[in-house]
Formats: sequence, C-alpha cells, structure tokens
Amino acid sequence: MSTVAFQTLGCKVNFYESEGIWQLFKQEGYEQVDFEASADVYVINTCTVTNTGDRKSRQVIRRAVRRNPDAIVCVTGCYAQTAPAEVAAIPGVDIVVGTQDRHRLLPLVRQFQEQREPLNIVRNIMKTRDFEEMNVPGFSDRTRGFLKIQEGCNNFCTFCIIPWSRGLLRSRKPENVLQQARQLVEAGYEEIVLTGIHTGGYGEDLEQYRLASLLEDLDRIAGIRRIRISSIEASQIDDGVLNVLKNSDKLCRHFHVPLQAGTDNVLMRMKRKYTTAEYGEKIARIHDIFPDVAITTDVIVGFPGETADMFEQGYRFMEKMQFSEMHVFPYSKRTGTPAAVMEDQVDDEIKDERTHRLIKLSETMQLAYAEKFVGQTLEIIPERICKEEQHLGMIAGYSDNYLQVAFPGSKDMLRRLIKVNITKPGVSVSEGNVMHSSEANVVASL
Ligand code: SF4
Repeated sequence: MSTVAFQTLGCKVNFYESEGIWQLFKQEGYEQVDFEASADVYVINTCTVTNTGDRKSRQVIRRAVRRNPDAIVCVTGCYAQTAPAEVAAIPGVDIVVGTQDRHRLLPLVRQFQEQREPLNIVRNIMKTRDFEEMNVPGFSDRTRGFLKIQEGCNNFCTFCIIPWSRGLLRSRKPENVLQQARQLVEAGYEEIVLTGIHTGGYGEDLEQYRLASLLEDLDRIAGIRRIRISSIEASQIDDGVLNVLKNSDKLCRHFHVPLQAGTDNVLMRMKRKYTTAEYGEKIARIHDIFPDVAITTDVIVGFPGETADMFEQGYRFMEKMQFSEMHVFPYSKRTGTPAAVMEDQVDDEIKDERTHRLIKLSETMQLAYAEKFVGQTLEIIPERICKEEQHLGMIAGYSDNYLQVAFPGSKDMLRRLIKVNITKPGVSVSEGNVMHSSEANVVASL
C-alpha cells in the first residue's frame, strides 16, 4: 500500500484543505503515515502570511526531501501560490499546486510517476471566480467540525498578502455548506466552526443571501449543538447577523473581531474598513445581546507610523473594549505589501516593549473574564488529555464562550458536551468539576 504524509502550516483553512486532500489520497487506497516517517508521497500545505511563514515552509519541504529522497514531494498552499518558481527551485520538489486545483493532485502524482518531470500548475488566482469544493466528511484529529464557507478577500489591508495568495472573495453555495454541516453532525461533531479567509464576508458575492441567512439555515439543522464563527470583521456585524444572534440558542457567545489597531490614524494607514468609534459601537451592541459574551481580537503592534502617543491611545481603547483575550502580533514586514515599503518603520526594541505591554494587558483581561464564571456551570467539549504539570490527568476543552477549562474526567468524555462547574479562574486554562446529572438539575447551566 502506498503511503502519504502531510505537514500543514498556517490557519484553520489550510488544515481544512489538507483534510480534503487526504480524502483524495484515501480514495486511491493510500495509507497516511506520520510526517517524521518515510513516505512515498509528501504533501506540504504552506503558509505565507509572514516572511517567517515562507521560511518555515522551505524548512519543512527540505525536511521531507531529506527524509526520503525517492519520495514524490508535493507543495501546495499560499507560499506555493505566491512564489511558485521559488518553491519549484527547491531541490527535490516535484509538484507545485497553488491554492486551487487541489483535486488534480492525484493525477499529477501519477503523471510524475510515469514521466519523472517536475510539474508546476500554479495559475493566476486573481482570475478565479469559483469556490473549489473539497469533500471533508470529518477530521482525523479534531474535536470540532470545521466548515469552510468562503474563500478569498477583497479588502487588501496594507499589511496583508492574503488576497494575493487566496484571490478575491468567493462564497460557497449555501446548499453545499448545509449538506456538509449535516455530514459533520452525522460524524458526531457537537460544534461546527464556520471558517474561511474572510468568513464574515460570506454572501457578499451572492444574490440576496448573506451570512445572516446562512446562520439561520444552519440553526435549523437538528443535531448541531453549537455554531461558532471563527472570525468576523466589525464592518460585517450588521443588523441581520445581530438579529440571528438574538434568536439563536446555538450560536456561541464568542466572537473573534480583529481590531488590529486602537487609533483611527493607524487604522487608516492599514486601510481597515472601520473607525475605533464604529468598532466600539458594534462591540457594545453584541454586549447588549449577550452580556457574558467573549470578544477576542487580533492586534498588530508597531505598525509603520505608530507613535508612542498613538500606542498609549490605542492601549486605553483596548482596555475600554474589555476583550476576553487579545492575540498580539508585532508588525512584521511582508514583502510585496504596501506597508512593507512605508516610511516610519518602528524599531524592533520599541515593538517588543509595546508587544510585551499588550500581552500583559491581555492576560489581565483573560483572568478578569474567567473570574466572572466561577461558581457557574458551563458546557465544555473536552478535546485533549492534559499534559501540563498543573492539570496532569485532567481533560480540557472549550465552553461556548471560549473559556478553556480543565477538569477531572475520563477519555470517553472527549468530544462530548459535559456540564462543568467552574471552581478556579485561569489566564489560559480555568479549572472545574463535572456536574453530575442530579447536581446539574439544581444549577441552571446556560
Ligand atoms: S481582511 Fe485584511 S487582513 Fe483579513 S484577509 Fe483580508 S486583506 Fe487580509
């Protein structure tokens, strides 16, 4: 039996697509082996979101070539899409496929086996208008069911290379999204995570069917217990979406709404589609609907032109937003983006100092948010057995409001909704105890 090994870098979308590519090899009778093992075929799904992404992708490619010089090495994903010649030039790379045409990988492997000639089929993604369907009935190592609903982005933020690697926004046909959601329910997934490159932009290219319409239709599917939106821009939190939030008991009380910067000056240089006032107004409206909602965000520190005053102003704005967690990224130049050639690049030392302060702020926010739920019972979907010292022997997973909780429990509880009473708040992981049915009836869970 032929063997194939996968290594995936980057975001949820890449992991989703690697699962789709694995399904193609599985249908051909391949066995999947660990990437550290010797395989007949290696598939590397690359990332290019930062220059570091490119470097790490090259390292992984070279590792595969060294592992088995006779293997067929296939490279796909965003780095392959934006720099196909560079990838094809790495000694040992046999097949280069970008962020489309993944369904052609198996025929290409067969073609290479016959002709032993390197193949590079990367084509211009900016011309693509169709969403590439991939069959993903389940995930080999995931507790939550990821559901890709759209591709690409039309925003062209000045620091971001993604529109050039993923193309313009394309929404998946609603009937295909709903069909796969039913498949994931049948496969036993309690939670569906809607994902994409610009998830909140779903439907912008469709007639009369937006994200709110899709959320309503998903909400009607029996068996789905939780629906999570992986990320949504402030500018896309419209009345339609807010109305669905009000009426659904399946939508998770967690919204990841990237802020990126806390001053209008920097937001304008980033070409973001909102001001701090508009952002704040949207977050306030979500809090009105869901008082205990978790708002997480992404923040870029030290964007070109960010002065000390702007940083302080942004810091105060973030404090006001009371996020439950902030993902803090020091600005890193991405070759090929407008921001990379902007003047007033910020010194690394200053960037580090500011990054450190925002991480500290995020930790304070994370603990403050977790403290709110001590004594309450939340439903957790445990997804791992804890290996960290302080939670050894416990299992851990997330609540609908994205609180990670560790609690004494057994392996057969993994992937199921378990009622847990929160006993101890934590910055990244809180603790609790399982509420047994008799106790659970007493304490109102949600
Ligand atoms: S919204 Fe901006 S940051 Fe997000 S993918 Fe699009 S261009 Fe990149």
